[in-house]
Amino acid sequence: MSHVFPRHCRVDPPIALRGEGCYLYDASGKAYLDGSGGAAVSCLGHGDADVIAAVQAQVAQLAFAHTGFLTSQPAEDLADLLIAHAPGDLDRVYFVSGGSEATEAAIKLARQYFVEKGQPERRHLIARRQSYHGNTIGALSAGGNALRKRPFAPLLVEVSHIAPCYEYTLRAEGESAADYGLRAAQELEDEILRLGPQTVMAFMAEPVVGATLGAVPAVQGYFKRIREICDQYGVLLILDEVMCGMGRTGHLFACEADGIAPDILCIAKGLGAGYQPIGAMLCSGEVYACIEAGSGFFQHGHTYVGHPVAAAAGLAVVRKLLDHGLVARSAAQGEALAAALREAFGQHPHVGDIRGRGLFQGIELVAERESKAPFDPALGLAGRIKAAAFEAGLICYPMPGTRDGRQGDHILLAPPFIIEDAQIGELVSKLRDAIEAVL
Ligand code: PLP
Repeated sequence: MSHVFPRHCRVDPPIALRGEGCYLYDASGKAYLDGSGGAAVSCLGHGDADVIAAVQAQVAQLAFAHTGFLTSQPAEDLADLLIAHAPGDLDRVYFVSGGSEATEAAIKLARQYFVEKGQPERRHLIARRQSYHGNTIGALSAGGNALRKRPFAPLLVEVSHIAPCYEYTLRAEGESAADYGLRAAQELEDEILRLGPQTVMAFMAEPVVGATLGAVPAVQGYFKRIREICDQYGVLLILDEVMCGMGRTGHLFACEADGIAPDILCIAKGLGAGYQPIGAMLCSGEVYACIEAGSGFFQHGHTYVGHPVAAAAGLAVVRKLLDHGLVARSAAQGEALAAALREAFGQHPHVGDIRGRGLFQGIELVAERESKAPFDPALGLAGRIKAAAFEAGLICYPMPGTRDGRQGDHILLAPPFIIEDAQIGELVSKLRDAIEAVL
């Protein structure tokens, strides 16, 4: 009997033994095509020799040095590399161990910034419904996934939620995409005015919504307007690129496609590519300067902040992405995946939408295409498709629709950037079989 406390208590998962390229192998030798990179983690695939060598060399030279006393060369080099390519005036990198730590740190930094700036009345955070920003108390409060939040409701902090920019279900009949984007963004200004502009500290959003909507980018113009509104009211813009960052969408940073830059940016998953647990919060020079000139101390910090081995892995991953043209490859293979999905599901009676950017693609299931009506969540379609695909040797990331909206079940795909055309064919064919077996 296992003593591991698993994610799902009544599921007995096979033991993963090894990984190679786009495949994982379990202890019985069965191969699984990693069609979702776990959860948009494994951007380089499995067994990347360069990253393994970097991790081995670093652990042998220096495994740990507490950042209360010392910094380390890999952390310094990785911060330099990220800032050299980061959008806008992002200037400082705060390393953490994962996505929830990055978003939690972002929320706390926003609050401390305004306290030190002499605006302690700025305490409200605005985020969006049908979003996910992590599982710690602050990050969970920011997220808009009702199901994940329900048991913890009495513990959560107050956060306002506006609608996501979700063209498939929320754009009105006859409304242009541009008009819809402006209407969706207007919700932010309305909420800032309702709360009182001088009380709002930050707005947090995923540029391409991952787990909760299934690879949904905003329409062009939405984030430009969001940026303007934040600037107008002195509100910090926090972008959560934990899932969609690090080349996943065909840009190193997803917000590049929207032509804007945030004040605070969160990354994780693809940064360590699964080789080490690492995340990061990048902030603007202005935010950093305020803390530096004020207390000089961010009232935060975990033991493993800036872990040298994790930073060495991140450094090797980002160098590989940049030096091997893998971000452009994510864009190109993303086109190929999107085309294969359209070919397989374009006329499917229960596929309402196919969307995404780069190798971050999603399909949304509907009971009926015409009305876009979702299936009854009680059918548990997402879980059943996940199980059928896994049985057939495909790892994909189906998620149930949220009960608080009109959203149907969706399937998120985020394979390694090294995926070949033949493997895209295998992915789509196994996915089609899994959907057929369930619907
Ligand atoms: N933010 C986003 C957008 C995510 O998708 C996730 C995880 O799925 C998180 C934050 C939390 O990251 P982690 O699971 O590494 O804590």
